[in-house]
Parts: sequence; structure tokens; C-alpha cells
Amino acid sequence: MITHPKYIFVTGGVSSSLGKGIIAASLAKLLQAQGYRTTIQKLDPYINIDPGTLNPYEHGECYVTDDGAETDLDLGHYERFLNVPTSQANNVTTGRIYQSVIDKERRGEFLGKTVQVIPHITDEIKHRIQLLGNSGDYDIILTEIGGTVGDIESLPYIEAVRQLQWDLGENNALVIHLTLVPYLSAAGELKTKPTQHSVKTLMESGVQADILVCRTEHELSDSIKTKLARFCNVKKEAVIQSIDASTIYDVPNLMLEEGLDKVVLKQLDLESNQPDLGRWNEFLNRHKNPKGEVTIGLIGKYVELQDSYKSILEAFIHAGAENEVKVKVESIHSEYLFKDNVQEKLSHLDGVLVAPGFGERGIEGKIDAVKYVRENNIPFLGICLGMQMAVIEYSRNILGLDNANSTEMDESTPHPVIALMESQKDVVNKGGTMRLGSWDCNVETDTLAYKSYGRTEIKERHRHRFEFNNDYKAQIEASGLKATGYNPETGLVEIVEIPSHNWFVGVQYHPEYKSTVANPHPLFVAFVAAALKYKNNK
Ligand code: GLN
Repeated sequence: MITHPKYIFVTGGVSSSLGKGIIAASLAKLLQAQGYRTTIQKLDPYINIDPGTLNPYEHGECYVTDDGAETDLDLGHYERFLNVPTSQANNVTTGRIYQSVIDKERRGEFLGKTVQVIPHITDEIKHRIQLLGNSGDYDIILTEIGGTVGDIESLPYIEAVRQLQWDLGENNALVIHLTLVPYLSAAGELKTKPTQHSVKTLMESGVQADILVCRTEHELSDSIKTKLARFCNVKKEAVIQSIDASTIYDVPNLMLEEGLDKVVLKQLDLESNQPDLGRWNEFLNRHKNPKGEVTIGLIGKYVELQDSYKSILEAFIHAGAENEVKVKVESIHSEYLFKDNVQEKLSHLDGVLVAPGFGERGIEGKIDAVKYVRENNIPFLGICLGMQMAVIEYSRNILGLDNANSTEMDESTPHPVIALMESQKDVVNKGGTMRLGSWDCNVETDTLAYKSYGRTEIKERHRHRFEFNNDYKAQIEASGLKATGYNPETGLVEIVEIPSHNWFVGVQYHPEYKSTVANPHPLFVAFVAAALKYKNNK
């Protein structure tokens, strides 16, 4: 343990989507594996208060923390790599910064002063950056700054970093700049100029990069590293190559080989040890050497975009490794799924997951899919909207409740088997008002959920407004779809199952958010195991 927390800032240059989140998470893993208590924070320069109101097409999945923050999907990577829960303090947006400064101004806290970007906005940014450090829970805080240097909206963040470096003093903070070294095939060469320009742009704001992490498709030669060091004012050992990897889970080892952790610890005047990556490498080994394969259909309406279901895809990687199989996920667009093609699209699958979502688009395809897997005994996991679709399908096709629906899709349905939660009825604002974060759930024994978790008391994360309508519970249960998990205080149904089916589980919560490399989610592990069993018995 160290007395004063140390700060690492990660900025990006040249291009977006270089994987700052993965580099930050990988470095944090290496530091954590040497005994440093490490956390990662993401600063997002957009004006939304949080990504909760963003369409997945804009910004990928919205990740939810235990304390109910709707956050950037990079926080999911931080948790999956570090196995330490994040919170509201780990994701800050420009919207949130401005909102709190404006609220303070309304309360008269600036004592008649003119409120300005510098110092008021930058002070608020500095305050948010240091919240995690001041908690006393961490030795090292990595702060990833969203966007690319040179963006107008990133400027206050870069200025806050510049000031903090002075405030914190030597050896207490450093800046890692992630850039791209492109390969021009016509010239047959790697090009350093974009990196030089990007470092220069950062310097125009008074920030000197201490370490360069260079994304590249080809090995950086010694002479390229020398050139980058010379033109960008960094030591040669601080030019780190980050070559394309076959899996994001390889990146910690790649960074270890490059010595990123050593350079960082040296510059922060901290001791460097051999990181203990034993469990991590065991996982990698199982992930890379599967003994079999299962194919799972992922049915959703954002399937063309990998990032929309990020946590689900990663949870399958963890659960696959645990079962020593490769999980091949086949994305199926629910909008193009109909009664007459459902067999053709689903019959070869070993398991089907119906994804979370909002709104009417694509829901009939999800319902047709549930009917098909229910009737054909194919293992099924429904998450949030997926669970709600399972209840609707059962009500329509087994109970004969014609046009049963969720009031989200049809306000005047004759059978609102899924309905708006009581606590949501007076809610007007859309942002941050769903049932969010971690809630208790009691699991009934002798159920698939109990077999998976091995316990009766669990906590899972939620993000929804609608719920299983308990007015229909007796009727639905009598016909064979059982409620097997409840919230102990409200009686809200959190899990449903069909005991007569091979493996059929719907959950109102999002198990995918809690799956990590160190702790693969038990429900995903059990679902993959059921798919494997189903495949072997085919
Ligand atoms: N739209 C549904 C609700 O609000 C499901 C939400 C979800 O899948 N996350 O209840």
C-alpha cells in the first residue's frame, strides 16, 4: 500500500476506436497483479449527463454499475479485467460537470464571481478525477479521457490534466498517449508522422506525453521506435508497441512483454515486481484451447453492431472458457425473423439468447423465436426484454390470452402480462429514472437458477421500467411457467423457468454485467453447459 495515490492519464490521438479502454484495463491488470489497488475512470466529453439516453447505434451498450449508474461500455471492460466493481465516480461526462457547476452557481456558491470554463469547469473536472484517489481505497487511479486530442470538447479535460500534473508534483502523475502508426502498403512502410502531429497537438495544450502506446498492424522496428522517441520527447523505453491481438484478453500479456508496467512504475517512483497472472493465464489457456464448440443464437435488433451487446458477448467468452468450449455466437436480427423462417434460422442452434431492448421494433420476431425454442426443447436464456417476451409468448400460446403483451408495446392490450412498475407511474424524465443497479433476489430451491448459483440469495443489476404483472401470476404458474426468483421487498418476479423444458430461464435483470474473467457468471456458465449437453444428445 502506498500513502499518496498516483494518477495515470490515458489520452488518445490520430484516430478514435484505438482501444484506449482495453489498454487502460490491461495496464491496470498488470498493476493490480503486482499488488497495487487499482481502479479506472472514464471521462466522456459529450454533453449528455450519461449514456442512458443514447441509442446503442450512437455509443454501443449502456453498462450499469451496482450503484445504478448508466455508464460507458468501457467500465464493463474495467470490471471484467479487474474484477472490482465500478461506481458512479468511475464515469464522468461533460453534461454532469456542467450540471453540477450550474447547480452551484444557482445556490450562490461562487459568491458573485463570473463562472468560467477555467477555473470553474476545470476545477470540477479535477475534483471528480481525485474523488477516487481521495477515497483511500486505491493506490493508482487510471483516468481515460474519451475522444481524440484536438477535439474542441476535450480541451477542458486536457487543461485539467495539465494543472493536475503540477498540483500533484513529480512522480505522482503521468500521461500515456495512445496513437496509431499506420502502415501504407503502397509505400511498404509504417508512418510516424500522424503520431508526431498528435503529440504536438497535445503539447500545444501544455501536456507532454510521458509514454507512447502505438497501435500498429506490424512490428515497430528499433529505428521506428528511436525516431518516435526523438521526435516526441519520450525515452525510447517509453515507446510501447501495441500490435493487433486475436483477443482483447491477450493485451495484458502483450503490454507485459513490452514492459509498459515497468516504465509506468519507474516514472511513478514505485516498486515493480513480477505480476501474478496465474489465474488470468489459466483462463486464457482454456479460452484458446477449447475441447468443443457450441453455437448460440443471439436474437436482438442491434445485432449488426458488435458493441451493442458487448457484455453478453464477453460473458459467453468467460462461460465458454469455464466449460472448455468455444461459444460461437450467431447474431440473428429479430426484425427479419418470422413464423415461416424461424425453423430455418434456429433449428441448427444449440442454445438461444433473446436480448434486452426497448420499444416495439423487432419484438414479434423475438416472440416467434421463444415459441420455437420452447416447443423444440432448445436451451433458452431470456434477458430483461427477452424474459418479458417469454412471458408474453407463453401467455398467448399456452394460456390462450390473445394479444397478451407488455404495455410498453401496446397500452391497450387486453392482457397486460408485462406492465409498468408501480414505482414508474409518476416518472416523467427519461434519464436515470429506470429501476437501476443492484437489487436483491431470493431464488427458490430445486430450480435451474438455484442449480446455477448454488445459493438462494443473490444480487443482480437491473435496467427496466416494466415487470411481470403479478395479477397473472397464479394463472401463468398453473399452466407451467414458474416464477423462481423474487425481490424480497416488492415481490417483483425476477426469474421465470419452465421446469418441463430442457433448460428455459428468463431473468428480469442483466447477468451479463457481472461476468468477469475471474468470476464467469454462473447463469451463463450453466446455459453454455446446457447447450453443450443438448448438442451432445442431438
Ligand atoms: N424495455 C423493457 C423495460 O423497460 C426491457 C428493458 C431491458 O431489456 N433492459 O422493462
